[in-house]
Amino acid sequence: MTKKIPATLIPGDGIGPEITQATIEVLDALGTPFVWDPQHAGVGAYEATGEVLPPKTLESLRRTGLALKGPLTTPIGEGFRSINVTLRQMFGLYANIRPTKTRLPGERYEGVDLVVVRENIEGLYAAMEHYMPVADDPEAVAYGAGFNTRAECRRIVRHAFEYALQHGRKKVTLVHKANILKKLSGLFLHEGRRVAAEYAGRVACDERIVDACAMELVIRPEAYDVIVTTNLFGDILSDLTAGLVGGLGMAPGANIGEKMAIFEAVHGSAPDIAGQDKANPVALLSAASLMLVHVGRADLAQTLDRAIEEVLVQQGVRTVDLGGQAGTKAFTEALLSAL
Ligand code: NAD
Repeated sequence: MTKKIPATLIPGDGIGPEITQATIEVLDALGTPFVWDPQHAGVGAYEATGEVLPPKTLESLRRTGLALKGPLTTPIGEGFRSINVTLRQMFGLYANIRPTKTRLPGERYEGVDLVVVRENIEGLYAAMEHYMPVADDPEAVAYGAGFNTRAECRRIVRHAFEYALQHGRKKVTLVHKANILKKLSGLFLHEGRRVAAEYAGRVACDERIVDACAMELVIRPEAYDVIVTTNLFGDILSDLTAGLVGGLGMAPGANIGEKMAIFEAVHGSAPDIAGQDKANPVALLSAASLMLVHVGRADLAQTLDRAIEEVLVQQGVRTVDLGGQAGTKAFTEALLSAL
């Protein structure tokens, strides 16, 4: 009998419940080993319990060490701090892995197959932000600081090289802005080079300044294999790479720590299309595929990926964000038939 694996399920806000339902239907049909423990977080949880991260949810995460999570809404500029950032810091989910692969041949970009490894708990996301008053304006100056530690820079770059070895990838690119942020980004580059030297002869390494990297990713994304970078740059570049292959509806992400892994779509709660049967569930489905690989069921991940390809490419069934007409439910039905 297959070993059962307990996992926390957080449907999230906005389009979260719709794409989570689609994903769970498909995973159930696939016969995955997960035993789900559904829990609340986000704005929905706040409205129900007065807490964005209820203790029961945290308990479940500590117990299972594994989760599939829908997007969570964070108010911009005010209100509570991002729950995603809190979860990453609370559970030491130091590596954010965001693979991007061409799934729609004949569209703008062919042959994209790269992975962004983003440092997930330091950098400017440490959010040490303040206002400073000048004369009678208490918010005349906005001040923000970040930090990178030597230990974390080494750990994330090592993670990228180990990932490259495990997944048969040939090259890791260190992406930085050490020409301007000589200490904050310089430390990352310096430590990155030291770690890279340990892998010489096994995995190639090169370097790019982040702005040049953004330009090159648009012009010739096929030149990239594994990108490793600090928190803010990784956040921005991985949305850029999602855009290369059809948009946010296609991009999965994994938040990995020593004791826990949380899998999610890169996109947010998309309030503009919530509850309208318009959301593309492929990003969350692809996150579930990464989760299957993580627990040693690459066989099921492959079946899932093949079925997604069959529906998107051979059958041409696509949601509106990909220029198609299928609703979330119709897409899910097509996928269930293709399994
Ligand atoms: P968003 O990713 O929610 O939406 C950006 C655009 O992409 C919208 O037009 C949306 O309709 C579209 N889109 C996103 N996912 C889609 C999908 N699966 N199918 C079809 N179209 C899709 O970004 P936003 O509007 O900037 O953020 C909304 C909220 O989500 C904010 O509160 C933000 O903080 C939060 N957010 C959460 C996460 C997360 O939980 N990991 C990530 C990013 C943003």
